[in-house]
Amino acid sequence: WAKTAGGARWALYDAERDGQERARQALSAAIPVGLERGEFYLDYQPLTSLHDGSLLGVEALVRWRHPQLGVLRPDSFIGLAEETGLIVPLGGWVLAEACREAVGWTAAAGEPPYVSVNLAVRQVRRPGLVQEVRALLRRTGLPPNRLQLEITESTMMTTAEEPVRALRALADLGVRIAIDDFGTGYSNLAYLRDLPVTDLKVAGEFVRGLRAPDDDPGSRTGERILASLVSLAHALDLSVTAEGVETAEQADWLRAIGCDAGQGWHLGRPAPADQVLAYLASPQSGLNQSGPDGMPSH
Ligand code: C2E
Ligand code: MG
Ligand code: MG
Ligand code: MG
Repeated sequence: WAKTAGGARWALYDAERDGQERARQALSAAIPVGLERGEFYLDYQPLTSLHDGSLLGVEALVRWRHPQLGVLRPDSFIGLAEETGLIVPLGGWVLAEACREAVGWTAAAGEPPYVSVNLAVRQVRRPGLVQEVRALLRRTGLPPNRLQLEITESTMMTTAEEPVRALRALADLGVRIAIDDFGTGYSNLAYLRDLPVTDLKVAGEFVRGLRAPDDDPGSRTGERILASLVSLAHALDLSVTAEGVETAEQADWLRAIGCDAGQGWHLGRPAPADQVLAYLASPQSGLNQSGPDGMPSH
């Protein structure tokens, strides 16, 4: 009896797993098709100066308007694209599209915002990356200092000599390099000294633990860690961008400890390129602080 029930459960489990595997394969096969049909697009999220509230840059975040499944967030297909290697064409498209859109942004005063693009480990490892970026900058006419590449800590830890050389070559072109989600990986600070990094993006997890209403001792420790991280980054000549800034209180406190920039719901949600343009045309209208972006929050 028990054996039969167990067997049935197993059969059910296998069927479910098969189903999931088939769904993943189908989704993966749909990526190149979607690229061809123009189903991917980019939203841009403000990277805001905490000193004067100006728009320093925007992060390009890929979305997929899937014909059957609706708009998909990157978390549901980037991992798959990384596993299958499809991140190379997809990431290449993101890079090109971000440069193409950003070159049209002009600011009434000061520098137009830079565009910050996430790079997966496979893209960094590919020998052709530097060539690709150089050709792209030439083709679009985007000034190199208006492109930032975001690389995670774990990418840094798993890449070898060759990619480090690639990052140096990119930095030599004048491209900005940011470490994304800092604090969630090994946080090995040694590589920051040896790499041409310009910006540290501190993970939202760090920011969220700050300034609990009851001011509990744990959160004070978190505050002190973040404050020392900011001093350390400044000593290394890096600017610091805090991710996941969801409240005015967090922004105030981050400003007080000298954090340079912020990104998060409180400062502006991801939005399509035309909203970036609208903001640049009339900054006094403000960023889309509460505007719907069609993306549920995490
Ligand atoms: P990320 O690079 O750390 O991007 C920031 C993510 O945090 C975005 O999620 C953004 O919508 C979300 N976020 C922004 N402000 C807040 C906030 O105040 N609170 C909270 N809880 N979340 C906030 P999204 O768009 O879903 O992207 C998720 C991840 O997917 C990105 O994390 C990035 O790692 C990856 N990704 C997105 N686009 C690309 C791409 O073109 N290439 C690659 N390789 N990865 C990408
Ligand atoms: Mg990022
Ligand atoms: Mg991040
Ligand atoms: Mg993230």
